[in-house]
Amino acid sequence: MGSKHVIVIGSGILGASTAWHLVQAGARVTILEAAEPGGMATRDSWAWLNASWGNPEPYFRLRIRSMQEWKRLQQQVAQLQVQWSGGLLWDLPPDALEAYAGEHSAWGYGIERVDAARALQIEPAILQPPEQALYVAQEGSVDPLAAAMALLAGAQDGGAQLLAHTPATGLRMEQHRVIGVDTPQGLLEADEVVLAAGIGSAALLNDLGLHYRIDAPPGLLVHSKPTIPLLRTLLMTPDLHVRQTTQGRLVAGTDYAGDIAGADPRELARQLHGKVQAMVRGAEQLEMDFYTLGRRPTPGDGFPMVGRPSGLAGLYLVLSHSGITLAPALGLFAAAELLQGVRDPLLIPYQPDRLLQNNG
Ligand SMILES: Cc1cc2nc3c(=O)[nH]c(=O)nc-3n(C[C@H](O)[C@H](O)[C@H](O)COP(=O)(O)OP(=O)(O)OC[C@H]3O[C@@H](n4cnc5c(N)ncnc54)[C@H](O)[C@@H]3O)c2cc1C
Repeated sequence: MGSKHVIVIGSGILGASTAWHLVQAGARVTILEAAEPGGMATRDSWAWLNASWGNPEPYFRLRIRSMQEWKRLQQQVAQLQVQWSGGLLWDLPPDALEAYAGEHSAWGYGIERVDAARALQIEPAILQPPEQALYVAQEGSVDPLAAAMALLAGAQDGGAQLLAHTPATGLRMEQHRVIGVDTPQGLLEADEVVLAAGIGSAALLNDLGLHYRIDAPPGLLVHSKPTIPLLRTLLMTPDLHVRQTTQGRLVAGTDYAGDIAGADPRELARQLHGKVQAMVRGAEQLEMDFYTLGRRPTPGDGFPMVGRPSGLAGLYLVLSHSGITLAPALGLFAAAELLQGVRDPLLIPYQPDRLLQNNG
């Protein structure tokens, strides 16, 4: 029996990871990308690898598993670099901080409670150290675009074909089965189609009459000019989160997605950069370089959508917020389900159909 031919639509971190794992498992893979390879949300991501606060336990387990899978990929994928620099967090009121620490520590998250002196020891560049914070040494970050490109290169080395600037214009159905993808160059047939097109997935699903609750809130990041090493860790503070990239830029964001609507993003970026300058020793004179305004593919309840939409044969959806953290596990599990028919127990809560709007 020949190997399965799988088309992956989208070459962001989720498509790249799924394609890489499919190739490793022996599939023949074609990746379709409407724009440049490497993704949209992916290139505009802050890319913190974490299982931090706000998780119900099953979601925590998925996230922590994926952080472990990043370690595996680091060994297996050439050119893939992960910075396990640790995260120092105080973006919650004291009660909530303690509740998170107690709960997630009990689940096995390596949380250290720190005072101002210890915070400064971990991160000497903080100008106003918090009285109470939490440090998690096992958190990290990646350069998200570089990571997606490394996975795509690895998939191509294993025989995958990457067709850039080739949009999927529709999913071709026969009976109740997706049998291929329409493109400007014509129909491409496949045994399975993986939809990993980020916010572009909704349009293709809508065309099939499948209307899911999928949001796309904006997220702004401000990048400084490159500078000498200033920060050792990722910092999550009440005002902003900030880390230093491997190119030496300080990159900062906030969770104020709602405020962006109607606001001048350049002005917001300038204000945010001002907060970085006020927070990080050595950044006082550092200039802002540019900002990005990404959109986060976000399932309506905030949790991943991974699996076959509405029982359709031949189609598999991989869509998630926190996709950088989750890409290794979701790609691994998607490949196993597609090729071996085995659904990992960690995926059980995340069947897409829970968010179907027209299921009566
Ligand atoms: C500001 C910001 C901060 C974030 N911070 C974090 C964080 O700290 N940690 C974390 O884990 N996650 C974070 N995220 C979320 C994370 O970046 C996303 O969950 C992840 O990048 C989604 O990857 P993706 O591959 O699904 O989507 P994308 O990267 O958007 O890739 C989808 C690709 O599909 C292509 N496409 C779309 N339609 C079609 C079509 N019809 N045919 C062919 N191709 C198509 C697009 O061109 C794109 O390249 C953040 C996101 C943002 C915006």
